[in-house]
Amino acid sequence: MSDADERRYHPFTRLIHGRMHSEHWQYDDHIVPPISSSAAYRLESAQRGAEGFVEFANPEFNVDQHAPIYIYDRLDEPARGMLEENLAQAEGGDRCACFATGMAAISGALGVVSKTGDRIIAHPTLYGCTYSLFTNWYPRYGIDVEFVNMHDLAAVEKAIEPAQTMVVYFETPVNPTLEVIDIQAIAAIIKRANAKRPDRKRRIFLVVDNTFSTPFSQRPFEHGADIVVHSLTKNIGGFGTDMGGAVICENLIYPDLLLYRKDFGGPLSPKSAWPVLTHGLPTLPVRTRRQQETALKVARYLEQHPTVERVLYPGLESHPAYDLAKRQMRDPDGGFAPGILVYFVLKGTPEEGRAKGARVIDTLAKDSLAITLAVSLGQIRTLVEHPSSMTHAPIPVEAQLEAGIDPGGIRLAMGLEEADDIIADLARALGS
Ligand SMILES: *Cc1c(COP(=O)(O)O)cnc(C)c1O
Repeated sequence: MSDADERRYHPFTRLIHGRMHSEHWQYDDHIVPPISSSAAYRLESAQRGAEGFVEFANPEFNVDQHAPIYIYDRLDEPARGMLEENLAQAEGGDRCACFATGMAAISGALGVVSKTGDRIIAHPTLYGCTYSLFTNWYPRYGIDVEFVNMHDLAAVEKAIEPAQTMVVYFETPVNPTLEVIDIQAIAAIIKRANAKRPDRKRRIFLVVDNTFSTPFSQRPFEHGADIVVHSLTKNIGGFGTDMGGAVICENLIYPDLLLYRKDFGGPLSPKSAWPVLTHGLPTLPVRTRRQQETALKVARYLEQHPTVERVLYPGLESHPAYDLAKRQMRDPDGGFAPGILVYFVLKGTPEEGRAKGARVIDTLAKDSLAITLAVSLGQIRTLVEHPSSMTHAPIPVEAQLEAGIDPGGIRLAMGLEEADDIIADLARALGS
């Protein structure tokens, strides 16, 4: 529309319509991409709208032929789209779809590869809400979840045999115990089982929650995983300002994932995609290098402390899977990248450990500047929490003990403070 034509309208009507479709507004010229915020998109013609719907989630359509036809935020959106391309590249996967939270991403990934009558095999120690999804919700949908210790490869091999088994699911390192699970060994078992399943859509998918490692420390596709899920709320987001989740997968299941997100909802808001795109992901390597240096210092300090029973950190020689961690947890330059979390248990019976742990945590909450009592992880601030009563409270105490979650266990997630300050605050709290 020409300026003269526009002037026929009342100034207030023009204020509403503005000049927001200027030819000059293109993303290429921005050093920092703008936060996009538009629920719906202007379509030049009904024909173009129809093309947009035909192309959406259509595996036959080659996305590289022309720019996407945006219709509606829940389908596709430019700020989130840029983040998705960057995440797929960081993980070494084909495609990525981002969701409003990590839990939305996990339900999305599992929602496309399982249905009523299917079976999911999962490691018994899991993020509390994932455990609750598996035990409170999936049984209602007729999806059977069996917990199998992923360190027992013979048990895994046996458990995945039935034709209904569609998914093997775990986190590594495991939240909160920091056990390390051998992705390659499990992938090899699945590959043997899949060799007997000619239908590609009825094969077993290996789904790995890579939240604790991030693609900086570990890229599960390199070890044979089929789908990687993330909570972007954690270290990829990095600053603790926004929630988000991501699923990275191969081209084969990506169209279903987009359709799932369109129909069940829960896409990542572009306003929450923007900080991850502009601040979180680009600073992930510098933040993680610093955090893992601190984690090793803190783990070594705790290991020699007289009140501490044991410390689990994949970077310690004493970690039961130290050799596996050294093989599996590598930054893209090949450096050992054992992560930013440390888990430790205080001496005494479980009851004594729990009481002492609560005292240490309360002292930190009251007196420490460097350590903050809060759930979540992967922020610029060091966070401490008590998994048994906080993040893993949905898991019954007996199941917690079976899964190696000690009632007195304490989880530390490193921030960017000076390591000496973190250690000094821990020393004061442990001495109290
Ligand atoms: C936090 C977390 C989730 C859930 O992510 P939200 O963004 O909180 O929904 C899933 N898995 C792991 C390992 C987590 O730490």
